[in-house]
Amino acid sequence: MPGGAIGGWWGDTGLDIAGDHLEVFAIAAGTLDYSERGHTHWTHGRDTPYSVRLALDTPIPWEGHRITHVYYTHLSHLETTQAEGATPRKHVEGGEKLGVSGIGNGTPHLHLGLLLDGEVEQDSWTFILRESDVRKVMGGYKNGVRLPALRGPGATR
Ligand SMILES: [Zn+2]
Repeated sequence: MPGGAIGGWWGDTGLDIAGDHLEVFAIAAGTLDYSERGHTHWTHGRDTPYSVRLALDTPIPWEGHRITHVYYTHLSHLETTQAEGATPRKHVEGGEKLGVSGIGNGTPHLHLGLLLDGEVEQDSWTFILRESDVRKVMGGYKNGVRLPALRGPGATR
């Protein structure tokens, strides 16, 4: 999410990236499991309840496990709408636009989750990376660090 600012909090089930309606891109190539409204508890008031789950083409090794899926939520706009279970599933390249961030729990931000070993239901914390581990995977960003703004032909804001 170019232009976003890292704003994670200890124990969260993903990494929060602050930003007000910024473009969101795939962190790596994969196939969409879904790209639709829902898949989040934050659906009330100002919250924007759109979510994407991406099955990575190439899982990322992690402490004896594999990161197999990436979960994005609180999106306000989706580039593609695909219901869970629909076929065919859309393939996206790393860096391909998924949508636009929105508001979750009343705050403008993106929640980025990483899921292990194909266990995607998020009903057990065992298979969800915690915030501090998501940071490590993404390169060790600290809170307040702003992700570089988008430049070049793809830039629209
Ligand atoms: Zn979060």
